[in-house]
This record gives sequence, structure tokens and C-alpha cells, in this order.
Amino acid sequence: MIVRKFGGTSVGSPQQMKVVSEIIADSQPQIVVLSAISGITNQLERIAQFLHRRDEIQAGKELDQMQERYFQFIDELFVTETFRLQAKTVVIARLEYLRDFLRKMFNVLQEKALMADGELVSTHLFYLFLLEKGQKAELLQALNFMRIDKDLEPDEFYISENLKRELQPFAENQIFVTQGYICRNAYGEIDNLKRGGSDYSATLIGAALGAERIEIWTDISGVHNNDPRFVANTSSLPQMSFDEAAELAYFGAKILHPSSLLPARKADIAVWLKNTMKPEDEGTCIDTYYGKDGIKAIAAKDLITVVRVKSGRMLNAYGFLRKVFEIFEVYKTSIDMITTSEVAVAVTIDDTRYLDAIVDDLSRFALVEVEKDQCIIAIVGNMTTQHKGYAAQVFNALQEVPIKMISYGASNHNVSVLIDAQYKSTALNQLHNQIFKS
Ligand code: ASP
Ligand code: MG
Repeated sequence: MIVRKFGGTSVGSPQQMKVVSEIIADSQPQIVVLSAISGITNQLERIAQFLHRRDEIQAGKELDQMQERYFQFIDELFVTETFRLQAKTVVIARLEYLRDFLRKMFNVLQEKALMADGELVSTHLFYLFLLEKGQKAELLQALNFMRIDKDLEPDEFYISENLKRELQPFAENQIFVTQGYICRNAYGEIDNLKRGGSDYSATLIGAALGAERIEIWTDISGVHNNDPRFVANTSSLPQMSFDEAAELAYFGAKILHPSSLLPARKADIAVWLKNTMKPEDEGTCIDTYYGKDGIKAIAAKDLITVVRVKSGRMLNAYGFLRKVFEIFEVYKTSIDMITTSEVAVAVTIDDTRYLDAIVDDLSRFALVEVEKDQCIIAIVGNMTTQHKGYAAQVFNALQEVPIKMISYGASNHNVSVLIDAQYKSTALNQLHNQIFKS
């Protein structure tokens, strides 16, 4: 069994959905995990906002637009009137359910149910399309097996037991279609794995079944060695390790949901990143191997805030760092980079919701300085410290760029530097030229 996940743009148009149906028609037993049609989850989010404000008129307008888009999609996707009608009946029923929220109560619970709609529709349309083509397939309901626990973490035992039970009535060697992203929570309510969570669904399903491999199909040919939006002539990496990919996932969240590699890694299943627009491209294989020594990729993360905490009393004082970190913990704010000197510690965060409160609390025992609009540049690869020259290579390349923080040595797979956001493009390009062109 293999698992193939197709993202929103991969099913974003009838044309693309047809391409997906061809990609999966290679007679492999498989579970096909789909996202919502691109743009739909964003639209559902907008509708939820209107409903929270009790703006039924705008919410209703969005729903009408959504229905129109789905109908057009259906008219182009299917060739027979029978299937068009069947598909439209599905959409009408789902939208009726959503329109109920215009008249009834709307709170966080209903919002989660609303957010699940995109995947429920996309999978049903795709399933009907396969049937119209004469392709044997079964539609599995993720809400019957995908589940998170009280801490909002996937309940792996539940998922595995229930997914196997769902599959039991069917012969193994066929195509199953199911929803990404959506799940139930510990109370049995409809919930989700957070935005972009379909990748996570796919790896959880793969791990639950001990799949041969997991394929994540998007609109880019795997992991690039630098950010193509800022650097010309980037190329895609044929292979990288789970460790290296995890370092990058935080930066290239656009490629892969950051938690999604964990289940695959635990179950030792390779994850392939493939491009639906160019299925013939090899893509990137992420597995347990490190491959050759060297720097593999460069990535940047924006909107970073640095908090510098200085205290004369840190000198020879134990417990100072604990006091600092505890404050970030209280406000559930995770720290990304850390550097320390004998009298100061600097940390970076990307979630600034509680920044003011954090600064207030820190100011009780230290001098605090905050700088916004920073950028972390991460240099990722297999850089065993026995090997000389990695740091020199990075700093040589960045001679023209003022560096504010450096983090090196925590793992063999990452050198990170913090710079002012205005130097991001320069830094990415100079590193690229120095490291990959020499
Ligand atoms: N449809 C959801 C989203 O847009 C989940 C996903 O596509 O992964 O976030
Ligand atoms: Mg996605």
C-alpha cells in the first residue's frame, strides 16, 4: 500500500483533477488523501469570520459564490449528465448544511464543522469522477478514523485501529480516497489538524498502515536548495534526511506541514515530494539517510522578533536562564534561536501575540530590548563538525551583511544567522553563489 496526498492546487481545477486521476492510475494499491480545492479553505475561513460577526448577508454571498464555483467545476469535470447531477446533489446538500449556520447559532464548534467542508466536497467529487471514468475506488471517511487527543496530538493507536477497521470490508488492492486535514477531537467533535494539515494526515495514515512509501504532491518539484522567489537558478534536491528536512520544514512551511515528517520518521517510511504539474520530475525523497557531507539547502524565515535580556546578575548566577525561559513558557511562546554571553541572552520568536506581557515580566529582573522585522537564514545540510570550513564558508559569503546572531553546533545539520529583513535577498543570493557555484 502507498499513500498519495494531493494539495489544493493539485485538485484546484477540473484539468488538474484529471491529471491526478492519471497519476494514480498506475494500478498500485493506494490511499489518496486530498486537500480542499485551492482557495476553498480560505473562503470558509472568511465565512466563519462573517458568521462570528453575525454578518449573514456577506456569509450568504460567499456561499453563493462557492456554489457557483463548484457547479462550474462539476460542469467541466464530468462528461455525463448523470454524474453531473449526482455531483451537484452532493454540493447542494453540503451547502444546505452550511447555510443552516446563517440561521442558527455559530460558535467555535460550528466553525470547525464548517472548516471541514472543503475536503468533504473535494474528495466526493474526485471519487465520483473516478467512478465515471470506470475506475474502481472507495471513499473513506476520515472522520471515522482520524483523531486527536486532549493535547491536540494525533491519537496514533486510535487512528491505526479504526483505519484498519474501515478498510477491512474491502479488497486490499484498490484505490481509496479520503480527506486530509479533518479529524475528530477527544470529545468526538469535528476538528482539524490546523491549516496545511493534509500533509500530516497523509503521513499519519502511512504510518498507521506501515505504507511502502508516502508521496506528497504539490506544485513544486520537491525541496529547492534555495528560495526560488529570491534566487535565480535554484535546483531541487534528489534526497535529504528527516533531520535536514525537519530543519527546513520550519522555514519552508510552504512545502510541508512542519509536524508531518514525525510519523513517517518514526515508522521509517520514505516521504517523496512530487510535482503534479510536472509528474515526470523526480522530486525529493526524504528518508533516514544523510548522504554525502555538505551544505544542501538555504532558506529564510521572515517576521522574526529578537528579544535581548541583559542582567548584571547573570554573571556566575545559576537559574537565570530558567527564569527567562519560564516566562516564554507561561505565554506558550516558542523560542527558535538562542545565543548567550556571560551577561546576556538573546532569543528569537515568531509568535508575538504575548510579546508585551513577556517583556513586562522579563523587565522585573533584567533589561530588555526588542527588535522586530528580523530574518533567520538557515543553512542546512550534513555538516559533521569534524569537517572543516562550513562556518568559514557561510561567513565569507555574508561579508557584506551585518549579522546579529549566530547559531551553530546544536545539531550537525544547521547553521542559522539572524539578520535585518532588508538584507534577506542579498544574503540568500551571496550564500547561493558562494556555496553552490564554487
Ligand atoms: N485545506 C486545508 C488548508 O488549506 C488543509 C490542507 O490543504 O492541507 O489549510
Ligand atoms: Mg497544503
